[in-house]
Amino acid sequence: MTATAPITQDVLTIPRKLAEGLPNLVGMTRDEMRDALVAIGTPEKQAKMRVNQIWQWIYHWGVRDFASMTNLAKDYRALLAESFVIELPEMVTRQVSADGTRKYLVRIAGGHEVEIVYIPEEDRGTLCVSSQVGCTLTCSFCHTGTQKLVRNLTAGEIIGQVMLARDDLGEWPEQGAPKNEQRLLSNIVLMGMGEPLYNFENVRNAMKIAMDPEGISLSRRRITLSTSGVVPEIARTAEEIGCQLAVSFHATTDEIRDKLVPVNKKWNIATLMQALKEYPKASNSERITFEYVMLKDVNDSDEDARRLVKLIKGVPAKINLIPFNEWPGAPYQRSDWERIEAFADIIYKAGYASPIRTPRGEDIMAACGQLKSATERERKSKRQIEAEAGLGH
Ligand code: SAH
Ligand code: SF4
Repeated sequence: MTATAPITQDVLTIPRKLAEGLPNLVGMTRDEMRDALVAIGTPEKQAKMRVNQIWQWIYHWGVRDFASMTNLAKDYRALLAESFVIELPEMVTRQVSADGTRKYLVRIAGGHEVEIVYIPEEDRGTLCVSSQVGCTLTCSFCHTGTQKLVRNLTAGEIIGQVMLARDDLGEWPEQGAPKNEQRLLSNIVLMGMGEPLYNFENVRNAMKIAMDPEGISLSRRRITLSTSGVVPEIARTAEEIGCQLAVSFHATTDEIRDKLVPVNKKWNIATLMQALKEYPKASNSERITFEYVMLKDVNDSDEDARRLVKLIKGVPAKINLIPFNEWPGAPYQRSDWERIEAFADIIYKAGYASPIRTPRGEDIMAACGQLKSATERERKSKRQIEAEAGLGH
């Protein structure tokens, strides 16, 4: 599907003078910030209060320079400016799809690039955040999976994506955003590039910042982490983040899941289901989202739908059907629309919500699984992709 409406794109070059080597306050936990302030001579007794003040400036007001932190003494502001930076990833391009979806390409330290997608809807605005540059996993239908892992993002680079999007949406009080309006960026999904549970600490710390009531203050119910099924970290996600969980399920037999989501060879469906059953109680969350990509003649039969219903029995669940989004060289096709609807119907009749995810931003390659920074050189060959998908010759 190619949209005919015009796409707008502008290239931004925001000059950023980086004070070489100074630690970035963005991404520090409260404890880390406290220690950092003490290390520059802030009296221990004052440190907690200073953290509160600086935290509010950065994460509530959206302030980026120490000089504007008017409730701090001038000398102290100067000391902060000599000792730290408040730094976000650099926005390289910003594209707006015909349907309003925005895709940002941002550059992080080392010259790497990641993509962020903002999806406006009637009742919410969702930001799809990346957790890694590339991915070590090699799901055969995923564009990101064809890019080798370059590195984990830092907590600052993860929360920085949220902050950049808020900059672009003009949503900080500092930018004059009206109070008590419905928030433009109301939800976060960790569904961009990378496997968030292979970058656990940074993802956790960044989400803690997003949830902190003195700052961005998003409820944990508005944050959804999507994993391909890194079982040992699922219980930890419940305990240490407590957000909503989505799982890239995609198949109903180990044989097919091994091919689609190779991490299944390590933690198979039965092992994954065990961890998922415990998640809602452990995290006090309502239900788990099962993501299921619809691949023509691969995982989309009525039998698959029935097996899926059986497998998830006893787990509070919603099944999100994702029509496969094509990318150049992809070894799969999207299931026909009637097939997707028939599949959805079986699940719905079994008592589960089974929304079909409308592909958003396809004209700017912003849809699920299409993200991949074009500038990353190290790619796998088509043959490698096919071999990993079990389609090799
Ligand atoms: N690594 C995590 C999160 C990122 S992927 C995970 O795998 O869950 C976000 C979602 O998009 C996952 O459910 C993923 O399986 C799905 N996806 C990947 N490639 C896709 C494609 N080409 N079409 C549709 N969905 C895709
Ligand atoms: Fe990585 Fe998720 Fe893509 Fe699999 S679907 S390759 S885990 S980003």
